[in-house]
Amino acid sequence: MMYCEVSLPVPLEQAFTYLLPQTLEHRVQPGCRILVPFGSRKLTGMVLALNTQPPDCPVKEALRLLDEEPVLNAELLSLGRWISQYYCTPLGEVLRSMTPLSGEVRKTKLYSLTDAGRDTVRQLLLGADEEDPTMQILQLLESRPLSASYLQKKAPNALSVIRSLEKKGFVAMEDLESQRDPLRASATRLRASFLSTARASDSEAPKLNKRERELHAFLELHPGTHNLEELETSVKGASQAARSLARRNLIALEPEAPTGVLNSTAPPRTLNPHQLDAYQQIEAALRGSQFQAFLLEGVTGSGKTEVYLKSIDAAIALGRSALLLVPEIALTPAVAGQFFHRFGDRVAILHSAFHDAERAEQWRRIRAGIATVVVGTRSGVFAPVQNLGLVVIDEEHDQSYKQQEAPRYNGRDVAIVRAREAGAVAVLGSATPSLESRYNAERGKYTLIKLPERIEQRPMPDVEVMDMRQEFLETRKLTTFSRRLVETIDERLKSREQTMLLLNRRGFSSFVACRACGERLECINCAVTLTYHRRDRRMLCHYCNYAQKVPSVCPKCASEYLNFIGTGSEKVEEELHRDFPHARIARMDRDTVSGKRHFESILHGFRDGNFDILVGTQMIAKGHDIPNVTLVGIVSADVGLGLPDFRAAERTFQLLTQAAGRAGRGNLPGIVLIQTINPEHYAVRLASQQDYEGFYQKELQFRKLMRYPPFAALANVLVRSQKQEDALAMSAELGRVLDPAPEGIKVLGPAEAPVPKLKSEFRYQLLLKAADRKVLNETIRHLQRFTREQKWPATALVIDVDPLTLL
Ligand code: ADP
Ligand code: ZN
Ligand code: ZN
Repeated sequence: MMYCEVSLPVPLEQAFTYLLPQTLEHRVQPGCRILVPFGSRKLTGMVLALNTQPPDCPVKEALRLLDEEPVLNAELLSLGRWISQYYCTPLGEVLRSMTPLSGEVRKTKLYSLTDAGRDTVRQLLLGADEEDPTMQILQLLESRPLSASYLQKKAPNALSVIRSLEKKGFVAMEDLESQRDPLRASATRLRASFLSTARASDSEAPKLNKRERELHAFLELHPGTHNLEELETSVKGASQAARSLARRNLIALEPEAPTGVLNSTAPPRTLNPHQLDAYQQIEAALRGSQFQAFLLEGVTGSGKTEVYLKSIDAAIALGRSALLLVPEIALTPAVAGQFFHRFGDRVAILHSAFHDAERAEQWRRIRAGIATVVVGTRSGVFAPVQNLGLVVIDEEHDQSYKQQEAPRYNGRDVAIVRAREAGAVAVLGSATPSLESRYNAERGKYTLIKLPERIEQRPMPDVEVMDMRQEFLETRKLTTFSRRLVETIDERLKSREQTMLLLNRRGFSSFVACRACGERLECINCAVTLTYHRRDRRMLCHYCNYAQKVPSVCPKCASEYLNFIGTGSEKVEEELHRDFPHARIARMDRDTVSGKRHFESILHGFRDGNFDILVGTQMIAKGHDIPNVTLVGIVSADVGLGLPDFRAAERTFQLLTQAAGRAGRGNLPGIVLIQTINPEHYAVRLASQQDYEGFYQKELQFRKLMRYPPFAALANVLVRSQKQEDALAMSAELGRVLDPAPEGIKVLGPAEAPVPKLKSEFRYQLLLKAADRKVLNETIRHLQRFTREQKWPATALVIDVDPLTLL
């Protein structure tokens, strides 16, 4: 007899033992996915181990093996255990999200009759009411297992009927992750967009079903083109509805262009002395074949990428593989092209814009050891790289390394653990390292390497801070652009140089308020104000994407005096058109960029000189290297400063420094203008001096005083519920469990979360600060046990270890 230990995606800590049927005995290996019965359901789990020892209690038999080869090797299984432990997330959930090609795996839930159900059907069917939905569903299931969506089409109230049948034990659910047909997947890469000429509400228009109406309304309120697969997350059944709407000419459907990888022609460079010194240190560590971590702190334009490339060469020359992680937005086809150019067939790019089939192919090449250079975003840290020698994390401070859903891991930190386990060298690069990483360098955990100068000793840009309070006093006008900024933009237009303008807030106006009663227009699902998007004539929630039409009168007092307050990137673009009617202007934010390729095409057009001015949100601040940009204007440095978050200053400093770093990267010197009403704030002042060290020292003092990271380990404990009383009561209960606070833990709260209602759920939170990680971990586990004993819904408690934001 053979048994296997299986980890299941359920909110429980332990693994479960199953008996292996003889047919599977020799095929199952740790790291393979397997289908097993769990209660009345069938779940896909991960095999952790095999053994011959019979367990103490009777066990069920495993049903089906889903992988003939392990999808996670021993190294990755052990990394999964570390993540589960460190981030207090059940192992089954961690392993599921590490499983490659989650896009390739489709969840299907099939319902079938149990034996008891079959007997009952026969009896009930005699003389039953044909219209009774329960009867309808039982009859349908008699023939074969069916999906919920199919049943929903056939019978009213299908879901609630199924649930009650499930409770009675007549129906069982099978949760099956089936392999998706890659051809089918790529065929759905279509883009849908609303045709404003067509009106669905016209009386002669054909009748639409509910799905079609929903999708139609969604596309009307969310203009632009949408990827069908992504639409599915907002509108269920979107693909089918889209095809039917397109047939009736109510929307447009077009195939998405295939991902073209551009070939960069940049020749390999001779390293300058600073780059050479950095490279030699990394190369020596690679020879040592032992874990070592470097922090490469290089000012913007100092040539960090070239150091990575040479280090990767060195790793390959030593017969080892390299993994390079980049922030989400940075992995463009142009970047991919650079790597293809340099490493040819040895490189695998894990790009979310690739089709499932392409991704599956990359994954296979990595696992087979054919691809020895792997470039990917956050989840690339789980790539099955063989014989790992070097891990590079570019822009290590970037927030997109943190996953915002369970498991809430930070890809940078997981990458370092992975490197340590593999005996590999880790290189973290940034012009503005996170406080944590820089502090690790100070304490000697990482080796600090600096690139203090720009390539070819190009000067850092000149930065001027414009005090907008002063500007108001002198002009008596509240303007978006100071006179100095207008004048400088004008000069660039005359000299045919380019300008980037950053405002880290999208939309037209930040919110709408009634002048008569003070009412602010809020989202119906979230406790946040709606943002006015003018081009689309709608009010939009930036948290849940809820949209509504712009009111003509106040919804509360019916007054006509509505005030549109605040400025967003859309308004900046409009005012630029007004002030510079001849300038060619492009805007880049989440409203104008719907996919990676679109992003790339705007950037390309700008690089090719098709635009004079590029306006955008933080998207434009990241990593781009455009030589003809000689002016960077920050329309307002104040956007992020007021947020109730201990990282507000750090984030503002990073954004301003990175944005400023886009100026003067070519042969022409650059200038940066920062507009602010907080000119004396240290984040603004030190960013304007491009003084990372000064900022680091100052911010470190603040963190030390307030006992924030890196001086304490932090966890955010969030309680949520659709009912406010429940959320409040649960958070109060957790407060009592932590009173008195465990030794070494400081508890802040419970208190209302900064966004007290999000997506229709009320939120309260407790913040745990601990001097010691072990104590923090034990405290969280204690809370998790408590909520399980109290039988709280599994979704009520959200644990975020090392949160990047407290909002
Ligand atoms: P960073 O990432 O540090 O901001 P990049 O890696 O983008 O800087 O490099 C800035 C520019 O300098 C790029 O255009 C790059 O091609 C160029 N560059 C890098 N190293 C060298 C070198 N040794 N000689 C000449 N140009 C270089
Ligand atoms: Zn009003
Ligand atoms: Zn909302």
